Amino acid sequence: MKRRIGVMGGTFDPIHYGHLIIANEVLDKYNMEKIIFVPAGKPPHKKVTGACALDRFLMTNIATLSNNKFIVSDIEIKSLEKSYTINTIRKLINEYDNTEFYFITGTDAIVELPNWHETENLLKMCKFIGVSRSGYSTLDIEFKINEIMNRYNGQIELLQVPMLEISSTDIRERINLGRSIKYLLPEIVEKFIIKNNLYLE
Ligand code: ATP
Ligand code: MG
Repeated sequence: MKRRIGVMGGTFDPIHYGHLIIANEVLDKYNMEKIIFVPAGKPPHKKVTGACALDRFLMTNIATLSNNKFIVSDIEIKSLEKSYTINTIRKLINEYDNTEFYFITGTDAIVELPNWHETENLLKMCKFIGVSRSGYSTLDIEFKINEIMNRYNGQIELLQVPMLEISSTDIRERINLGRSIKYLLPEIVEKFIIKNNLYLE
């Protein structure tokens, strides 16, 4: 039987409990061997205005220290090219044989899938798990997912997780406004942010 590994891409700017909870839900429900967090180096669709790649990588590492099934990859941050998921999955397939990869994304990212690089090939190489995120109705998402699966002949599963209205954007704004970010992310990440004066402008 093939082993299963989940891949969680994102800018993690900063990583928060929304990311950690969905990764753990997938690990648990799909009986995965591990979840690989892949902080994006140069995301093609998004300007990273907050922390540098190294700090985002370090924050992702310290946030996942206590779980030995969560690992953090530097594949994207050490590459000088734009971070296309298909290239990352190709590298992972070369690294791990006899493995089924599941790419984990929130519903906000799933609906954008047709705009990703080489969507059709990507969907041939891995399955997708779309996890619920507030702001998207289940009916709308099911419709959209079916549309994408039919168009590309890929496999996307919708997973309902406890919804947490946490986003990195909101955390960055709170820091900028001098508001509390307690309980939105691990305390150790909060300490890292304060020590390194991140997100103050
Ligand atoms: P930003 O506000 O900067 O976009 P973010 O909170 O969306 O940050 P990302 O690094 O963009 O975090 O997200 C990585 C992945 O995690 C994406 O697939 C996103 O949909 C998912 N995700 C982030 N926060 C949540 C959440 N609270 N619930 C479910 N999925 C989430
Ligand atoms: Mg996002």
